[in-house]
Amino acid sequence: MESTILYCKKCDSCFSGPEGQAILCPTCKAELIETHCSVSKWDSLSKDEKNSLRKQWKGMIEEQKTDLKDEQPGESGLSDDAVVSIKAFVIIACAALLIIGSLWGYGFCKAHSDIKNEEGLIVMAYRISNKGLNPISKSGYKTYLHNYPKLERQVKSFIRY
Ligand SMILES: [Zn+2]
Repeated sequence: MESTILYCKKCDSCFSGPEGQAILCPTCKAELIETHCSVSKWDSLSKDEKNSLRKQWKGMIEEQKTDLKDEQPGESGLSDDAVVSIKAFVIIACAALLIIGSLWGYGFCKAHSDIKNEEGLIVMAYRISNKGLNPISKSGYKTYLHNYPKLERQVKSFIRY
């Protein structure tokens, strides 16, 4: 197997070693990078040429690093605008759920308190058939009644459909 020059980006030194193997720098234990420059070619170079090659390799590694940094915002796949719209949507959806839930709960609790007074069933029947009651509260009423089939039958007998 031919030996190649391996470069350490961390301590900026060169070693000779086999190609295609992950070898750690003997000095600082960082992973060495294959330069594809053979040992014989390296030995034939002058000191200045070696230094300029080192600089070139270091520069290439720095470039790769900045390339990765530039790509990172795109990696999430979402622009800032999209994130803002999603946040707005979630807030609006939560507010809508809260309002619907409150109205529904209001109807449910009203039904519960209506049944406690003497004319409860008639009051319930009146409220359910009354067009003034909003549809969501009305569905709260109906859910309450639905839990008590006997009551539901009685209330229906008061409502003129
Ligand atoms: Zn090193």
